[in-house]
This record gives sequence, structure tokens and C-alpha cells, in this order.
Amino acid sequence: KVHVDKVNKSYGDNHVLRDISLDVMANEVVVMIGPSGSGKSTFLRMLNQLEMPNSGLVEVDGYDISDSKTDINKVRENIGMVFQNFNLFNNYTVLQNITLAPVQLGKMTKEEADQRGKELLKTVGLSDKADKSVNSLSGGQKQRVAIARALAMDPDIMLFDEPTSALDPEMVGDVLDVMKDLAKSGMTMIIVTHEMGFAKQVADRVVFFESGKIQESGTPEEVFNAPKNERLQTFLSKVM
Ligand code: ATP
Ligand code: MG
Repeated sequence: KVHVDKVNKSYGDNHVLRDISLDVMANEVVVMIGPSGSGKSTFLRMLNQLEMPNSGLVEVDGYDISDSKTDINKVRENIGMVFQNFNLFNNYTVLQNITLAPVQLGKMTKEEADQRGKELLKTVGLSDKADKSVNSLSGGQKQRVAIARALAMDPDIMLFDEPTSALDPEMVGDVLDVMKDLAKSGMTMIIVTHEMGFAKQVADRVVFFESGKIQESGTPEEVFNAPKNERLQTFLSKVM
């Protein structure tokens, strides 16, 4: 589903991704951890062609993203992305935020999108907010709308870049619960997070980034309970 082979990315002389290879299968949940500046966001953004690699291969759903001839808009329709800062349209209602893309891209009629949007709001626990303005929501509620909006396109894969990092602590659990349900439903997910308890619970595989390299990867048990890499041990001693 996602196939990344020996990818390199530099900004000027800052070599941010170094020979990164990673495969993610359908229904798999991969959690990426690592210190600030290690290249986690750059890696995620590359899967969506928000960044282009300097070398190496990036395939998503069989499309070669590293090839400029690939119709990236087609690929992006199947990739849901959720960021730290929600990126919602503040002047629209909650439901409008969710229905906008599927209607504009001709995936659904307005009526179909409204119905699907309401179902999604139910699954993220915000049925009562459909007609509210986004501005009136808390951070945790906004993030759940952002997840519902991404799901409205019926993506094959969901990418999350620190979805709870900007939230007040009491909001974090609700968002993580939505993500846990999504994982249980079989969604393919790649998640960057500092929530180690959550990672232990939902990850099929944990990948440790450091200095632009995957230094270690394995099951949550392997990575958290028996880390081999010294940098991973140091990192975990700071965050756990
Ligand atoms: P954090 O945990 O702080 O989010 P990260 O692991 O996501 O960190 P990245 O955002 O991928 O790290 O950044 C990796 C490196 O690439 C950093 O040194 C950063 O300064 C650099 N970088 C990222 N984006 C750009 C850009 N658009 N232009 C120049 N340098 C960039
Ligand atoms: Mg980041």
C-alpha cells in the first residue's frame, strides 16, 4: 500500500531523510516516534507530495509519487491527512467543512455528502455540532471535525502528524479514542505522535526516527520494552 525505498531529502545542506525505506501494508497501523527535527513530518508530507524526495522511490496505492507525471490529485483523494493545527475553514459550519471536498470533487451529491457527513459526525461524537460555526468549537472538537473531514473522502490511508500536540490535556483523550476506533475498523494509518501509551495500544509497528534515519522499528513490545538502539533508549528515558 505504501512502499518507500531508499529515499533521501535535503534542504540545502541539511540532509533530512537518509536512505529511508518503509513498507506499510493495508490495515496496518504504524506509529512514528522520534526527537524534534528528526524528519518525521518531512517523511509524512512526502507521501502526499507536499515534499518531493531528491532520490529514491515513493509508491502509494501503486502510484509512483516520486514521478512528476503521476496525477497527484487522484492519489491525494485516497490519502486523508490530519495536522496538528486542524487547518479547517473557519468561516464555514462544521458540516460544510466535511462536505466541501467530496461535493466539489464530484464524489458525491450535496445530499449524499450531507448524509455521510452527519454519520461521520456521529462517529466522532459531534452530532450536535453540525450547524455550528467551527470558531465556536474547542481544539479537541476541531480536531475531531478534521478527522471526519478527512474520512469524508473515503480514503484508503490516513496520515496523522501530531494530531493532539496542540490540544489542552483534557481534550487529548477524545481525539485518541476516535483514532483508536478508526484503527479497530481496519483503517491503514501512519501516525506521528508523542503519546506513547496510545502508541503501545494501537500500533502494529513502531518506527523510531532519529537524524533522518529509521534507527529501529518493531512491535510496541520490542520498541518500548526491549529497545536495542542506544539513541532509542535515551529518547524513551526522556519521554516515558
Ligand atoms: P518535530 O517533532 O519538531 O515536528 P520532525 O521530526 O517532524 O520534528 P521535520 O519537520 O521533518 O522534523 O524537520 C526535519 C528537518 O528539516 C529540520 O531540521 C527542519 O528544520 C528541516 N525542514 C523541514 N521543513 C523544511 C523546509 N520547508 N525548509 C527547510 N528546512 C526544513
Ligand atoms: Mg513534525
